[in-house]
This record gives sequence, structure tokens and C-alpha cells, in this order.
Amino acid sequence: MAQDLAKLAREKGIRYFMISYTDLFGAQRAKLVPAAAIADMQKDGAGFAGFATWLDMTPAHPDLFAMPDASAVIQLPWKKDVAWVAADCVMEDAPVAQAPRVVLKTVMANAAKEGLHVKTGVEAEFFLIDADGNAISDAKDNASKPCYDQQALMRRYDVIAEICDYMLELGWGPYQNDHEDANGQFEMNWAFDDSLVTADRHSFFKFMVKSVAEKHGLRATFMPKPFQGLTGSGCHAHISVWDKDGATNMFYDAEDEMGLSRQGYHFLGGIMKHAESLSAITNPTVNSYKRINAPRTVSGATWAPNTVTWTGNNRTHMVRVPGKGRFELRLPDGAANPYLLQAVIIAAGLDGIHSKADPGERHDIDMYQFGHTVKNAPRLPLNLLDALRNFDRDEGLKAALGLDFSAAYLKLKQREWDSYAQHFTQWERDHTLDV
Ligand code: GLU
Ligand code: MG
Ligand code: MG
Repeated sequence: MAQDLAKLAREKGIRYFMISYTDLFGAQRAKLVPAAAIADMQKDGAGFAGFATWLDMTPAHPDLFAMPDASAVIQLPWKKDVAWVAADCVMEDAPVAQAPRVVLKTVMANAAKEGLHVKTGVEAEFFLIDADGNAISDAKDNASKPCYDQQALMRRYDVIAEICDYMLELGWGPYQNDHEDANGQFEMNWAFDDSLVTADRHSFFKFMVKSVAEKHGLRATFMPKPFQGLTGSGCHAHISVWDKDGATNMFYDAEDEMGLSRQGYHFLGGIMKHAESLSAITNPTVNSYKRINAPRTVSGATWAPNTVTWTGNNRTHMVRVPGKGRFELRLPDGAANPYLLQAVIIAAGLDGIHSKADPGERHDIDMYQFGHTVKNAPRLPLNLLDALRNFDRDEGLKAALGLDFSAAYLKLKQREWDSYAQHFTQWERDHTLDV
């Protein structure tokens, strides 16, 4: 039985619940509900006007209800009066098929029917910038190779340690924090878990990082490529598949050269097979494509992939196998919707298992320097439109994620592309005025 939120409020001194759902563009939408009203809300959900958020609805749609998932409550460590609770969208008593958390749960349920439980860890890189969002907040953070910069990391100790302390308190098992490869960029890692747990934590992490940064007079951004010439923000996903008790890693094979089982290779094969279309979800914005495909950065590397290739412990490919029994998908970026990211990984991987997909040849070379030597290595999409068109053609992936979801997503994202395409830039004037 789901835990009683009213009782939890009494035990933990929670005064307000933030009933929160994530829309198709990854925005978190919430209502703040006083503990005195939570019992009814737990039964009936909190009402929202769906059209007011990105869910492809009209103003004429009936109320959407966000049903709090009582197993996904997180008391804000920085404001104990409030507890965030992830919610599932329901309309006229049916789940809203295009709501990201619903999409993920449906895909997970399909995997579970086959005894497969995907576990993931995400590495959600971010920048700490000034409150206006224009520049890196620490003027001294200007080294040309800023990765692991000890001094710059310590200048942001108050922010980073505060967030890490909260993760410790929440029991997420955080284990390391570093300054990343761009000026002003950081990464904080916590333990991997079931994909829904990771998706909820990933959502909460973004909320928490932004909240703590604001508290310190800064701003945090997960934008994929906020500064031209600097490394962007990836959101690598480490993937493994476990049996139904979550006890045995079915990707692990001690005998295999890479430590991967047959099933692991097929799952990887599914990711490779669908990479050019799933990027519409793992790299969901116009800006995403300025991270992958980008030229060399000031530090010497983007660390982001530009081809659909895989390898062992080498960071220049889309997939890296850093150790036995798991692999790292380096494609996703900071704009990826935490729920859709997990959903599309599972959907593509399951198809790989069903179709016994072959991930193809491994290329243990520096792809940035010697990529041209690999014949027929598919390029990742060059822009959002490319990716959306690939996704639209990928009937299998669309069906696995749900046709209602896929249609809604494509429609809204196409509009985003159209709005971008209408936008005139200085570059155009500079290159065309005197033609
Ligand atoms: N920031 C890089 C990216 O855009 C990743 C750096 C790393 O390997 O952690 O994917
Ligand atoms: Mg990193
Ligand atoms: Mg990584």
C-alpha cells in the first residue's frame, strides 16, 4: 500500500507538498499543496490546465490531474517544510499517454514482462554562471584546460558541498564531484539505480542544483552548449540490465573480452541501430546539435560524440565500455528530459534484444583524429530537424514509446524547429549582405 502522505507530513514536519510533473519539454510543473489538503490530493490528484504546459493539449481539454506517487517523495533538504513528490498525469481517469513519466513507466512495464530491469546512472553536467545567464560567474576560472581544476573547484566549494551534503542526507550515495572541462562547468556523481528512481532523482537534482545556485546568487544551467568554443554539458548514461530481483547483472560476462554478455551486446546493438532517431529525445533542442558535431574546443576536445560508433575505454565515441557489465552512452545532453531519456534507452535496447541486433565493429581509435579512416561510420544528426525526421521514420521506436506520445512530441518539437528556422541571425547578414 502506498504510504499515507498526511501521516508522513505529521511525522516529518512537512507543511507543504510540491506535487510535480515533468512536461514534454522537460519543464517541471508544480502545485504547492498544504499538508492539511494532501489526503484529498493523494486520492484525487492536483488539477492543472494541460494546455498551459507542454503536453500538446488545447484550452478545451478537461482538467489534467497530477497524481502524487507516494513512493517518490523527497523532503527538500534546504527547506524541510516542503516535500517534492513526483506525479503521474491522469485525465478522465486514464493515464495521459504522452506525459513523460507515464511513457517511462509503460516502457519499463513492457521490459519487466520479459524479466528485464534496466538500471542507469546519469552524469548531469552543468555550468554555474552569473545570475543574468550571460557569463561564467568566476572570472578567475579561465584556464585553457580547466578539467579537474582544484583551485576553481574550491572557489565553488560552498555550492558544490551543499548539494553533495544534501545527496548524502537523501541517501543517494554521491561519491565524487569535479570541475569539468569547460570554465564554470561541474559534475556531481551519485549511485546508479532503477531507471525510474534515477529519472526522479535526475529531475530533483536539476531542481536542487538550480535552487542552491540561486541561493548563492548564481545561476545553474544544463544547456547543452552554452558557450561557443567551450565543451558542452553532456548527460552520459551508464546502462546495465538486471534480472527481476535486481540481483544479477545480465550484462555481465566475465569470459568476454569487454565483460559484456550476448544480451548486453544486443541491447547495445539496439542503441546503435536507433541512435540517429533516438537523438531526437536524448538531444532534444536546437542547441543540442551545437554540442555534438562541434569543432574542437579551447581545451582541445569536445568529449562529445559525432558518430554512431562504439569502443572500449575511450571517450571519443558515442558508446564507451569503461568496465565489465555496463556501457556508457555519451550522446545525451543536459537538455534531455529525465524520463524520456530513460524511456528511449529502454525502448531501443529492448528492440535490440528482440532483433538480436549486432552493435557492429568496435573501433579502438581516436575518433576525433582518425574518424575519417572508419568507412561507413554514420554521422549523428547535424541538427534537430534531421533528428526529428529520423525519429518520424523510425516506426519501431515510435511504437515502443507509444504512438500518442510520439505524435505529440514530434508536433511540438517541429514547431520549435520552425520557430528557430524563422529566426534571422547576425551570421546571415555578415555572410550575405554584400553578396
Ligand atoms: N562535457 C562532455 C560532453 O559534452 C563530456 C566530458 C566527460 O567526458 O565527462 O559530453
Ligand atoms: Mg563529465
Ligand atoms: Mg562520463
